[in-house]
Amino acid sequence: MKLKYDLHIHSCLSPCGSDDMTPANIAGMAMLAGLDVFAVSDHGSTKNCRAAAEAAEEYGLVFVPAMELTTDEESHILCLLPELKAAEEFGEYVHSKLADVQNRPEFFGNQFIMDANDNILGIEDRLLISATSISVEQVPSLVEGYGGVAIPAHVDKDSFSVLANLGFFDKRWGFPAVEITRRGDKAALAELHSDLRGMAFITDSDAHQLDALPDAEFELEADERTAKAVIEAVRRGSLSGRLEV
Ligand SMILES: [Zn+2]
Ligand SMILES: [Zn+2]
Repeated sequence: MKLKYDLHIHSCLSPCGSDDMTPANIAGMAMLAGLDVFAVSDHGSTKNCRAAAEAAEEYGLVFVPAMELTTDEESHILCLLPELKAAEEFGEYVHSKLADVQNRPEFFGNQFIMDANDNILGIEDRLLISATSISVEQVPSLVEGYGGVAIPAHVDKDSFSVLANLGFFDKRWGFPAVEITRRGDKAALAELHSDLRGMAFITDSDAHQLDALPDAEFELEADERTAKAVIEAVRRGSLSGRLEV
């Protein structure tokens, strides 16, 4: 079945995410946008996934627990997990690899951990946009170990992407797909980087504010309406298309 998706959305736990990006608000906006499936993918943490999963259930939407991981090369990798427990265990592991730098909310923004009713449960002290000590090539098998799948985020962006930081994309890293921004020039990317040719891609909003959540536009082909099936669709590349010259 076709599912309209947005697998890259930041909540108020990301310092750069606005404070009204609560899990409950994101779920409500996802429904209004016409999405079937959405993910909350905060920088370096999965701690708002539980609230988002609860809120998604109330709206009858599929929720994919996720994280945008920063590698030690400062490349962003979108990590999708099949269920909450795996996401929380993965979150703990990544936290243990996250640089021990304290957040300065007045400078970077708040990092609120929420429940599904817009109550603040806690504040994350460690700066979540810091790099981890995990390298790009370690991420695919690491996330597979939790039953999930990893995708290099916004590869066409000129910062915090594998292309920007490493200068190349290597098929041997083992990522089954990549993420391209809405404005990304797919033909130009495939022309420039031969290892991207034939790769399946997704396009997400990477929204940090509620008004940045666009109407549902992109679809993937999943066997059923579950996070597991969405991850399976990413693995086999049943996504928005493939990068061709
Ligand atoms: Zn990013
Ligand atoms: Zn992001």
